[in-house]
Amino acid sequence: MDGAQKLKQQVRNEFMEYLTLHKHRKTPERFAILDHIYSVRGHFDMDSLYNSMIEVNFRVSRATLYNTIQLLLDCGLVVKHQFGANISKYERAYGNENHDHLICTTCGEVREMTGDLLTPTQLKKIRKFKVSYYSTYIYGTCSKCIHAKRMELRRLERKNEIRQQKKGGNQAKK
Ligand SMILES: [Zn+2]
Ligand SMILES: [Zn+2]
Repeated sequence: MDGAQKLKQQVRNEFMEYLTLHKHRKTPERFAILDHIYSVRGHFDMDSLYNSMIEVNFRVSRATLYNTIQLLLDCGLVVKHQFGANISKYERAYGNENHDHLICTTCGEVREMTGDLLTPTQLKKIRKFKVSYYSTYIYGTCSKCIHAKRMELRRLERKNEIRQQKKGGNQAKK
């Protein structure tokens, strides 16, 4: 079994335990959804998950998808990120290296960055807590938005200059 298969097996077992403990039904759909989530990388939302499942010819109702995600969130196999008031994304909890999210507060773009912000020593310093994984949120402005803002400022300045020049011209005539 390779790493990816092992991980899938591990999360399947965890899900099985959780469903048993909470007396939920162990339907094949629920396990297929878990499997699918652990086959893809990166963030997803309900729509993109639904569409990607259809792409691989897996028919599932949105209601089943929604309620399975709730169960997976509950047992910690999937995490939900709130990147802003209106942007929430999901991603698998395991097999996702520690990563940081760069969130542009202007356009809402979210970029992932790996490159450990915390060193192993720093992680060890977090007392009385065993870190399984982490992800951080870094809010700011993306380069596209910085550029757009600069261009807009320049445009307004130019408009003002022209207005000033016109004024100056009119005054000279008087
Ligand atoms: Zn932006
Ligand atoms: Zn992420």
